[in-house]
Amino acid sequence: MKKDSTASASEAAAEVRPASAKGSAPARKTASAQSPAPGKKPGKKAASAKKAAAGRPGAESRTALVRRARRINRELAELYPYAHPELDFENPFQLVVATVLSAQTTDLRVNQTTPALFAKYPTPEDLAAAVPEEVEEILRPTGFFRAKTRSVIGLSKMLAEEFGGEVPGRLEDLVRLPGVGRKTAFVVLGNAFGRPGITVDTHFQRLVRRWKWTQETDPDKIEAAVGALFPKSDWTDLSHHVVWHGRRICHARKPACGACPVAPLCPAYGEGETDPEKAQKLLKYEKGGFPGQRLNPPQAYLDAGGRPAPPLGAG
Ligand code: SF4
Repeated sequence: MKKDSTASASEAAAEVRPASAKGSAPARKTASAQSPAPGKKPGKKAASAKKAAAGRPGAESRTALVRRARRINRELAELYPYAHPELDFENPFQLVVATVLSAQTTDLRVNQTTPALFAKYPTPEDLAAAVPEEVEEILRPTGFFRAKTRSVIGLSKMLAEEFGGEVPGRLEDLVRLPGVGRKTAFVVLGNAFGRPGITVDTHFQRLVRRWKWTQETDPDKIEAAVGALFPKSDWTDLSHHVVWHGRRICHARKPACGACPVAPLCPAYGEGETDPEKAQKLLKYEKGGFPGQRLNPPQAYLDAGGRPAPPLGAG
């Protein structure tokens, strides 16, 4: 995130854009397809989405909501065809540790920290036997490093002692690991075991509220309500799409509505910057021409013009 704010606008403009049609200048591409044309507001569809925003009883039927939600997901799938977990990992153990470390910090900071951790402690047995102070030193950049050290050593001990050094593939086992809640467990199940799961993080909560997919505020209830709008097989990709959109375009404080391809389907259009040029400058990561969060992103991301994040201390 820091990278975004420190790069100049001219640097952003000069940066390489994703090469593929889908990945390149998405806002511009979709501007002709679905999002509002420069200087214009979204049309009819936005008006009906606005009705839903009004929250009037009967403003949007259940069927219409399901259709609109799935259209938004399809739009996001086109916008982020290379969406993936933004934590670097090579196996389930690395993913569970990285996810625990990602609390209260950016995935980028975790990705910059874990190479040293996994080089020194490649297995649960190694980390279980670690000297806590030495782990704390490595984890310091991620914040809350003492609590995180306790969690990762604790979960490594449990993996070594109760699960034969393997990360279990069941929700009920995963949530028993120190520092692992449902959110972490779903990230692990979805991305290391291919089990469908919805990850309700801060971006997910904000966006589904803006889209009026649910009025729930409790993460477990949001998970259930949103899960009911989609087939189970869509859940993991849906989670990536929504989180990616929240990180790149639909920001907490200033969403880039004027550069947002889902604007015609969004009841909250206008909550952020609607001027297309100004909105374009708010885009982050590859959509703004900046590096991503992973030091080792998947090939599809690189093929689309995305750039890897720099290692710790390199920028
Ligand atoms: S950026 Fe604006 S239009 Fe797009 S999803 Fe967010 S609030 Fe809606």
